[in-house]
Amino acid sequence: MRDKVVLTVATTGAVTTREHTPYVPVAPKEIADEVYACYEAGASIAHIHVREDDGTPSMNMEKFREVVELIRSRCDIVLNLTSSGGIGLDEEDRLRPFTELLPELATLDAGTMNWRHETIFDNNPKFLERLGTRMQEVDVKPEIEIFDVGMLYNALHLLKKGFIKNEALHFQFVLGAPGGMPATIENLVFLKNLLPANATWGAFGIGKMSVPIMMTTAAMGGHLRVGMEDNIFIRKGELATTNVMFVEQAKRIVAELGKEIATPEEAREILGLKKKV
Ligand code: ZN
Repeated sequence: MRDKVVLTVATTGAVTTREHTPYVPVAPKEIADEVYACYEAGASIAHIHVREDDGTPSMNMEKFREVVELIRSRCDIVLNLTSSGGIGLDEEDRLRPFTELLPELATLDAGTMNWRHETIFDNNPKFLERLGTRMQEVDVKPEIEIFDVGMLYNALHLLKKGFIKNEALHFQFVLGAPGGMPATIENLVFLKNLLPANATWGAFGIGKMSVPIMMTTAAMGGHLRVGMEDNIFIRKGELATTNVMFVEQAKRIVAELGKEIATPEEAREILGLKKKV
């Protein structure tokens, strides 16, 4: 398993709009079709967001249910549901999709930040305690998203206090979000060296550093995430017309390192996940 790299595809996210790129999947069927195409291309995990019909970021339970049912009816890709979904959303609404749909993973954004120099991405301490507790109750593993170094220590605090289960933690470094740590190799290496010894981890860069961050992450034994949530250009000035193009790009990079993308079943083994549905 040492030469297996878990590849997450994040097809949609909360920020990318049809104005940014006409190719971002937005409706539940579009998202599910895109995830299935990425699964066929070899992606291990699908990180899911949904939108309202007008494209607004949302934690709409029925949209989540529709996407998840469509994906599950077609393939066994590992599911990772967002617990954020957008800015200023109701806390209980943020917990509901993973509570009811029981994916293998859900995100835990381990701190509040100034979001895109515009507003606050609120992940206050009480909410994180509630989120971590709920995840334990329903046995969904957190993917701990780290936008800045203090968030890593927030996560270790939650672990110490029992709000995150004491097992091998899984971290995702999100580099290059305005308000968070910039996407540099130095930041990536710095963060990686702070992780608990038994942790698994992945990283991605938003914007033009995405490929160097992907290469360095794979070279350091981390896992990868690609997709239009994080990047819309497959190369300078050229929009990706499908998320599959990013999956293919990750496969090429990993192959040059003598590694392979993990199947969903291998990803479950690597990350210690249980298929529950
Ligand atoms: Zn997300």
